[in-house]
Amino acid sequence: MGTIKLSREALYSNLDIIAQQVGAKDKIAVVLKDNAYGHGAVLIAQAASQYGITQAVVRLESEALEIAQYFETVLILADFPGVGNANFRYVINTLESIEKFPKGTRVELKIDTGMHRHGIAIDDLEKAFKRMADQGLECVGIMSHFKSADTLSSEWFWQRRAFDGLKEKAVKSAKKQGWNVRFHISNSAGTFRSSQCEDDMVRIGIALYGCLQMDVTLLQPALKPVLSLVGDKIATRTLKAGQRVGYNGIYEAQCDEVVSTYDLGYANGLDRLASNRYVTPDGIALRGRISMDSAAFSTDADELLIFNDANEYAKAVGTIGYEILACLDKDLKREWVETVRGELVEP
Ligand SMILES: *Cc1c(COP(=O)(O)O)cnc(C)c1O
Repeated sequence: MGTIKLSREALYSNLDIIAQQVGAKDKIAVVLKDNAYGHGAVLIAQAASQYGITQAVVRLESEALEIAQYFETVLILADFPGVGNANFRYVINTLESIEKFPKGTRVELKIDTGMHRHGIAIDDLEKAFKRMADQGLECVGIMSHFKSADTLSSEWFWQRRAFDGLKEKAVKSAKKQGWNVRFHISNSAGTFRSSQCEDDMVRIGIALYGCLQMDVTLLQPALKPVLSLVGDKIATRTLKAGQRVGYNGIYEAQCDEVVSTYDLGYANGLDRLASNRYVTPDGIALRGRISMDSAAFSTDADELLIFNDANEYAKAVGTIGYEILACLDKDLKREWVETVRGELVEP
């Protein structure tokens, strides 16, 4: 069922670039939600921890439990405490949810600075502090999220200003309750949008995995994709001119053509919209419709590199690298390989 190959060299090189950008390793929180964007949460957690990263971000407590042992803090974006853990912190996304957190829970408050997705209004800050105190929670962070740090619009600037503008007041209110809060707003794009890091932490997802795409007018860090998807051959045949391959026969061979099927289909995350239009980095064309568990390519290679940059596959289906990565089948085999000049070599 295909294999995901992970490059440690790329991951560490990306972490070097991110650490240099923010000025310190310990300001980096790695975002490992959704199986570390399809890379494998435990594998990436182990490697990031070995590199010296001490903070992580996930969506659910169940994800946090998988990787808890590798980090000093794990921030949980959208879940409530179940078994809990002294190192977990839970994000409060609405005023109404405050009552749902048990007394003593460590929480971070999400502020809506302009994305209008999650978070409380800036004007509700005092109300939120009071409710958290009444509920007996410990607030340890104030956070927000950029909506368009990857494009050259002034939105980034206004959100930045709004966030910086509430810091002083928030620190004072927190002190009154005996709370020590940290501040963070930047995702990957936000981190590379500004030449200095004004916050205590950045939350890095897509840049860690080497698939950050910034507007061409903005800084272009030399990040490298960590993940490659490789298929194993199931069968080879030679199509005669006029013969068609796969469901509905949408591809017709123009002359005798060798095609092979590989063990990856849309159930494994190979988006079906790439049917009959995708070409691999080695110039090998996908032929016909992608099936649930297989796809045909114009080659007889035993092992086929399907993509080594999710953004390229995303282009063929009209989406973004994030979606291609996040939809990769959790059951695919995942392994580290070393790379030499960008070429995969077996360990
Ligand atoms: C997913 C997520 C991130 C990471 O975003 P990237 O663009 O992948 O760096 C950061 N913060 C929050 C709240 C997120 O949900």
